[in-house]
Amino acid sequence: MHTPITVAYGDGIGPEIMQAVLSILEAAKARISVEIIEIGEKVYLAGNASGIEDSAWESLRRTKVFLKAPITTPQGGGYKSLNVTTRKKLGLYANVRPCIAYPPYVETKYPDMDLVIIRENEEDLYAGIEYRQTEQVVQSLKIISRPGCERIVRYAFEYARQFNRKKVTCFTKDNIMKMADGLFHKVFDEIGAEYPEIEKEHWIIDIGAAKMADTPENFDVIVTLNLYGDILSDIAAQIAGSVGLAGSSNIGTDCAMFEAIHGSAPRRAGQNLANPSGLLLGAVMMLVHIGQSDIAELVHNAWLKTLEDGYHTYDIYNAQRSVAQVGTREFANAIISRLGQRPSKLKAITYSSAEQKAFSSQLSVQPEIKREICGIDLFLRSVNESPSDLGKRLFAIGTDKLTAQVLTNRGTKVWPDGIAESFCTDQFRCRYTGTPGLNFLDLVELQQRVNSAGFEIVKTENLYMFDGVPSYSAD
Ligand code: NAD
Repeated sequence: MHTPITVAYGDGIGPEIMQAVLSILEAAKARISVEIIEIGEKVYLAGNASGIEDSAWESLRRTKVFLKAPITTPQGGGYKSLNVTTRKKLGLYANVRPCIAYPPYVETKYPDMDLVIIRENEEDLYAGIEYRQTEQVVQSLKIISRPGCERIVRYAFEYARQFNRKKVTCFTKDNIMKMADGLFHKVFDEIGAEYPEIEKEHWIIDIGAAKMADTPENFDVIVTLNLYGDILSDIAAQIAGSVGLAGSSNIGTDCAMFEAIHGSAPRRAGQNLANPSGLLLGAVMMLVHIGQSDIAELVHNAWLKTLEDGYHTYDIYNAQRSVAQVGTREFANAIISRLGQRPSKLKAITYSSAEQKAFSSQLSVQPEIKREICGIDLFLRSVNESPSDLGKRLFAIGTDKLTAQVLTNRGTKVWPDGIAESFCTDQFRCRYTGTPGLNFLDLVELQQRVNSAGFEIVKTENLYMFDGVPSYSAD
């Protein structure tokens, strides 16, 4: 039985590296049948803002397995990132990026580095919900959900268990984003408790990233939010040896996408120069995913043997360590001629059939919670009025049920008791609170009053208590 997979050749160096990878898979007798779709630059420039045709979605939803070369997102507004669209539309919630050093064959300062970054792939600032609210202020929403956190954190622990990794480290910035990153950290602690055999640790992302860049060998599996994971994994891949070496999988409950972590490197395109290794290792992850661990092992070990024998593309070539600098095609041929061989110095790979098991993506059942409205934050545009005058006027406008408590600018309190040093933009936030149990019309009545008094409301945010606990940032 051949497994149908959808393939996109992509842009820039994409077609060359995809051709190289498919030639290796064919020589290794991978049991796949390839369906090709057109995505990326050509589709964008033909007027499709998302870079992918409806017919391509049909193929992806049917095969559920996507091997994708990098694509170029044209510069300028209006074009949506195809990568982000594909991940979100197909529900590919986990992005898995192994970053491994191959000393002494590929130069690195970190010969013992062998870590996997597991990045949340659908939420966070990548929700892509942005607004310009006033002349001076724009907003980008960071969306974090409990199911989103649970799925990625559980995936990281399941991955660690199945691939025999010993430690999972969580990176967040929950000292600042106490609710969003705080939820991720809390879920990490909750789910981590179900995996007693795995060591767990948490680092604030800034010091954690510094430690990862300094002593990456101290990390094993890292699980983190979307933006942090995106940045960290490029750094990790580069310090391991080259961004050209790292492959990645994007896993959902139904579909999966496999790719290199690098982009389309347009300056290197069409010159038979690019390193196909990142995409090849993505394809190896695909083979494991579709239950062809035997072929995955064959290809992975032939690739390691090629590195070890010193056949290197320009990005990892080193006159002292390499035997020959080869092009994309020649590198692929060198791998093909080593199919069946295993490395003797680098650690050979064994994929056991256990890895074919589907990971659990079980979600917790949360108790019912009492949710009550207890106030509202009004975001207002205001110019040329001092914060204290503004605060006093807004205080005077309250209703029987809602009273102005505080006025902030970019999150800093400027009334009451503001100080002259705080810089103010043209957007203020006034918090009105009342007794829990308010209804929506109470909020509307307040907004009508504020509007009638000549204020311009640019956005509102309801304030809730969950089981009597105020569930919004202080001030
Ligand atoms: P890039 O990763 O394409 O290239 C950066 C540099 O890394 C290249 O100039 C090259 O020196 C090196 N490099 C990358 N891949 C290599 C390889 N396989 N072999 C040898 N050297 C390699 O990043 P960029 O230049 O910022 O982005 C170029 C385009 O790729 C942009 O349009 C961007 O939007 C797109 N992009 C696509 C993806 C994707 O499809 N998954 C990911 C990132 C960027």
